[in-house]
This record gives sequence, C-alpha cells and structure tokens, in this order.
Amino acid sequence: MGKLVIVGTVAFDAIETPFGKTDKILGGAATFIGLAASHFNIDAAAVSVVGGDFPQKYLDLLSDRNINLEGVEIVKEGKTFFWSGRYHNDMNSRDTLVTELNTLADFNPVVPENYRDASVVMLGNLHPIVQSSVLDQMTKKPDLVVLDTMNFWMDSALDDLYNVIKRVDVITINDEEARQLTGEYSLVVAARKIHAMGPKYVVIKKGEHGALLFHDDNVFYAPALPLEEVFDPTGAGDTFAGGFAGYLAKTNDTSFENMKNAIIYGSTLASFCVEKFGTERMQNLSNDEVHKRLLQFKQLTQFEIELG
Ligand code: AMP
Repeated sequence: MGKLVIVGTVAFDAIETPFGKTDKILGGAATFIGLAASHFNIDAAAVSVVGGDFPQKYLDLLSDRNINLEGVEIVKEGKTFFWSGRYHNDMNSRDTLVTELNTLADFNPVVPENYRDASVVMLGNLHPIVQSSVLDQMTKKPDLVVLDTMNFWMDSALDDLYNVIKRVDVITINDEEARQLTGEYSLVVAARKIHAMGPKYVVIKKGEHGALLFHDDNVFYAPALPLEEVFDPTGAGDTFAGGFAGYLAKTNDTSFENMKNAIIYGSTLASFCVEKFGTERMQNLSNDEVHKRLLQFKQLTQFEIELG
C-alpha cells in the first residue's frame, strides 16, 4: 500500500461568501488534503499542530477516514491556527481577513517513525521552513514530493520558500500566485521560470477554469467541471492537491501520462468540495459519487474529430 505523508494546517476557518457566513468551522490545508486522499485506500498520515481548543470530534473525523494522526501535536495551553476569508462575488478571488498563526508560530513538525520512508510527501500550505524540516526527516528519498503554497508565504518568507521549492518534484500553485512568484503575466512563461527554480512539474490551478500541468515542453489542461452550485471555494486547492497526491501514492507511477489522471482525480474531488461550506461535502463523500463524477468528467472532455 502506498504511504503518503501530508503536512499542513489543521485549523479553524471563518468564511464569508455571497451565499452566507460561518463561525469557526473545521478547516486547514492538511484537513482538506487528508479528506481527499482518503478516497484512495492508502496509508496516509498527517503532520500538523492544534491547540487545546481543538475539538476531539474534528480529530475523530479525520481518524475515521483512516488518516493517521500520530504526527498531529496537541499543544494543550495553545490556540489552533485560525484563518478567516471573504469571497468576492465572482467566487474566484477572496480577501484574507485574519490569519492567526497561534500554535503554528513555534511548530516543530515530527514525522512519525513509521512514515519516514513514505513514497509520496505532500507538503501542504505551511511555513516553508516547516515544509523543509519534514523533508529533512525522511529516511528514504520519496518517489515524489509535491508542494503547495500561497501568497502569504511569498510575502513573509520568500527566501525560505525558494529553498524548499528547490527540493520538490511538483509544485501546485494558483495562477495569481504563479504570477506573484515569477513576476510574469503569461502562465507559460511563469511555469518555465518555476521549472528553473527546481520542480520538474508545475501545476497551475485556475479555480473554476481548471488546471494546467507543465513538464518541459509538454502541457496538459483539465477544465473544472461546470457546476450548478458553488457555495464555498475554500479548500478546493488543497482538495485538488490531496486527490493528486493520493492518486499518485496509490498508483505508484509518477510519469507525465499518469499525472494527467492525477489532475483529473484532483479536479473531480475539488468539484465536490465547493458545493458546501468548509469540509461539509467532503466528510461523507462516497467513492460511488466520485466514480459517477469521473464519468461525467470523461464525457465533458472527450471528443473524436477526423483530421484530414
Ligand atoms: P485553499 O482554499 O485551498 O487555498 O485553502 C484554504 C485553507 O487554507 C483554509 O482551510 C485555511 O485554514 C488554510 N490557510 C489559510 N491561510 C493559510 C496559511 N497562511 N498557511 C497555511 N494554511 C492556510
């Protein structure tokens, strides 16, 4: 069975979209990644930190989906990472209202002994020094290291971010962040510049407009499934990354061809995530529902054309 290490926030989120508003609910990059990766029947472990204020029922929700939580430290006297965001009317862009690092500020991740030989490491959105520290703890070189990050770390820890980017095989990043990281408007040029920073594969997420996979001169594009209802895009990027990394851990094949399938799985899982607030839709998502949507995805993108 493929082993996957997931690093990222396990958090409280408060979200505002044109459709409503939530108080503090379960969120965090590692949470969304874990819920998505749990669809692949792999051996996955989360590495993160929470405070004493974090409800046991949220931890149970993750362990019920077979995510190993030995690497999730609980700092009894501390508070859990908190993020709050407000989406614009187009739902493709958002403002961060609050980022309280809390226990994350002095977090020293510890990868459980049994996961230090994992084949795939998914470095979810976190301080780049924490991401690097996880790589330092691996006793065997992973077959694949995937990194996700965001503008917050570009603004506050750019040099550390460059250092970890050098060490990964795949980076997943959204279009605005790719532009910020490279200073290039064209995503093709931005991807080329990111290749030069280290990663052989660059995935650029474009929200409701799908995702692009770049590898040398090869490009693959997967649209997002057109949906009737989008309530809350929070976590869609992490869910995409969890589906992508989970599928690759399961199939144990890191070729460009197989990465295309991983992109489709990531996009399919992300299409569910946005249908309800926070993690709600992902909590009880069945494999059967995922399978049906994969078929829809196939129909959406398949065509035959006679070329003379
Ligand atoms: P996404 O919508 O995929 O970009 O991810 C949203 C999740 O990222 C939320 O659940 C937040 O808790 C988490 N998040 C927001 N800001 C940060 C940050 N600076 N570092 C780590 N995780 C964050």
